[in-house]
Amino acid sequence: MAILDWMMPGIDGIDICRRIRSLQPDPYRYVLLLSAKDDKQDVVQGFEAGADDYLTKPFDVDELHARVRAGKRILELQNELIRARESLRFEALHDHLTGVWNRGAVLNLRQRKVQRRQRSGEALGVIMADVDHFKNINDSYGHLVGDAVLAEVARRLTASVRGYDSVGRYGGEEFLVIVPGCDPKGLVVSAERLRCVIAESPIDSASGPIPVTLSVGLVSVGVGNSEPVEHVALVQAADSALYRAKAGRRNRVEIAELKTAAE
Ligand code: GH3
Ligand code: MG
Ligand code: MG
Repeated sequence: MAILDWMMPGIDGIDICRRIRSLQPDPYRYVLLLSAKDDKQDVVQGFEAGADDYLTKPFDVDELHARVRAGKRILELQNELIRARESLRFEALHDHLTGVWNRGAVLNLRQRKVQRRQRSGEALGVIMADVDHFKNINDSYGHLVGDAVLAEVARRLTASVRGYDSVGRYGGEEFLVIVPGCDPKGLVVSAERLRCVIAESPIDSASGPIPVTLSVGLVSVGVGNSEPVEHVALVQAADSALYRAKAGRRNRVEIAELKTAAE
């Protein structure tokens, strides 16, 4: 909230008011204009400049306090709206159970990273990870424990990627990790780290410790590769590598060969 005198040295309160309105700062600034000008025309001019309230001098201190309280109520309502908007935005992009990006958001991120890679020529990796025999966990311990296991898998994955990698829940027990700027060797190391962070210690649950493993498929586009790559093709390639990891003995990382348009 700004309480501005109309007449001030240097810049008039009314000019500040106009500037605030033209800059449209977020969150909204509530402006209370004070002035000895009590002509109707002046009051109208004050409101037209964007003031929310106007008080003529000399003013009664109690009245000023009452008007400040009224302004605070408006700002508090505004804050509640902002909080509701932020929480809707978060829910629209995140998976409710695990808190990681949801499918729509992670696919969107992947598309943006692929477009950026095309421009910058930086490396890009996509990792697809699927919990092994997850159905058995549900069948043996129930869906609530299954849910808790998924949440812990997501937590461990998120904790072991770099800050600029993105972990998303692609489907039920499948996670997609977008890894920008990482060379193919580094990507294999990252994927192994994800596999290990799940396999190395059982997940504590209400029904006791549950050993969990991941099968992982990955695909990478190297630095300087300016071949156009369909972003859908990346996930398909990672998915087929994952399929091979499943067909093997699971709890392993498989690397996809990426076929480019020229091949
Ligand atoms: P595989 O090693 O071949 O991946 O076997 P799997 O059992 O993990 O795979 P399958 O696709 O047969 O089963 C996945 C199961 O995941 C089936 C589905 O009921 C369960 N599932 C999907 N989403 C959720 C969820 O949000 N919570 C729980 N508890 N289970 C889920
Ligand atoms: Mg599975
Ligand atoms: Mg699956």
